[in-house]
Amino acid sequence: MNQGERIEKGIVLRAINYQESDKILTIFTADEGKIVAKLKSCRQPKAKLKFAGQPFCFAEWTLVQKGEHCIVANALEIESFFDISLDYDKLIVASCLLEMCDYVLNPEEPSGALFVELLKCLKMLAYHTPQPQIVFCKFALDLFDLSGYKIELDRCKQCNGEFNTHIIFDYDLGGFICGMCPCSAGKEISLGALKSLNIIQNTEIERLDSIKINDINLKEISSVLAENFAFRFNKHIKSLKV
Ligand SMILES: [Zn+2]
Repeated sequence: MNQGERIEKGIVLRAINYQESDKILTIFTADEGKIVAKLKSCRQPKAKLKFAGQPFCFAEWTLVQKGEHCIVANALEIESFFDISLDYDKLIVASCLLEMCDYVLNPEEPSGALFVELLKCLKMLAYHTPQPQIVFCKFALDLFDLSGYKIELDRCKQCNGEFNTHIIFDYDLGGFICGMCPCSAGKEISLGALKSLNIIQNTEIERLDSIKINDINLKEISSVLAENFAFRFNKHIKSLKV
């Protein structure tokens, strides 16, 4: 390693074209959080690091600071997660996960736990056959948890009472409340959908391909979680199609 260089393992969250043949990458690194780095000349036809300019690319990055810019000096691919791009539904969900990470991470603020969750979810999508939206729900639940917005599924967030048939997700509170409690901005969900969410919460990422949720419930909980993301982080997930 040359002087001034550092090596980081990380996943490309975003890659935008810059000038004639460069790209500006947003890389989620395991140890340093989100880093923005310039990948030079990667859009030329025979560029050695062409592969590194793609979202999802998981690589070992050699980075060097030049003035105020961080430059990619080299990249060794660990996994491309190329298989995700072969399935439209998987690609949509995986793109949502990258987008969510990009929004919640502050530059160079380490978030090792979220990095591990992302990696596990991408592996599940690339190498197994889960219902893709289950992976979205699992990742969203874990992301809220890691960000201090854990969603409790067992009791009413307001009165701590048990749920009966009338359940509402209260967006201001960021949790489920019972039908007895007042709510200003919320969405009613079915008991079946709440049970599905419980199953997802209690299943490890590596086993998400072993559970099956009906499409109606899955749609219900995906949209509640996406709305909650918008309320908590003030950002709509653009990649999402629910
Ligand atoms: Zn209540």
